[in-house]
Amino acid sequence: MLVSITFDVEHDCPPYLTTTRGMREGLPKLLDLMAEKKIRATFFFTAEMAKRFPELVRRVIDEGHELGSHNYNHERLDKLSRDEGRKAIEKSIKVLREFGEVVSFRAPNLQFPNYYYDILEKNGILVDSSKARYKGYQDGVKFFGSVLEVPASTTSSVIRLPWSVQKLIHAKLSEPKIYFAHPWEFVPMQKEKIRLDCKFNTGDKAIELLGKLIDYYKSQGAEFLTMREYYDRYQKLKRK
Ligand SMILES: [Zn+2]
Repeated sequence: MLVSITFDVEHDCPPYLTTTRGMREGLPKLLDLMAEKKIRATFFFTAEMAKRFPELVRRVIDEGHELGSHNYNHERLDKLSRDEGRKAIEKSIKVLREFGEVVSFRAPNLQFPNYYYDILEKNGILVDSSKARYKGYQDGVKFFGSVLEVPASTTSSVIRLPWSVQKLIHAKLSEPKIYFAHPWEFVPMQKEKIRLDCKFNTGDKAIELLGKLIDYYKSQGAEFLTMREYYDRYQKLKRK
């Protein structure tokens, strides 16, 4: 079984807040958890957060995780013109590549019109994970030109549901099972004026639940892949 843990590394709960508590308190805890569980993850950073927290980008890379792009400052691609979107993507990748290799992309809000595949391809992106099965995307992992689409399985709040409830959902997801979460979900958000689904079980409870999720898949012998690793596997299959 193939499972992936991915993080969309952005300021707190866009577009509602502009704070960065998740970066300061949440992300270090997530990196500690990944180290404890010996799991490698993909961290899709906005360039803005990478510029403000370069030491966290370096920690992600030094600890063996994959650095990906989550656009420049969380601009929604479906709300920009194709040209404005292209500029934001290119600017983001340029900043992030100063830290290391960047070959994976996830669009903010998982809003990704298909005409952007071509732009990713021209910018050396190999994997996109912007499509969402929970938003009705029907296909599995497949190539769009030379870009491999690895769709997200379920929305981030699912992994904060009570364990007895979320367990039923995990079992039903088709493979590969691609999860995502945000650093701000791992600091208490209960007092913020944001949507209810963005704040329940945030903080240490979310860390505990993510640990449970990882243990659940480990006990089933799952393999945890970074986005880049899907590309290597599917390229091989393609050549056969
Ligand atoms: Zn995001």
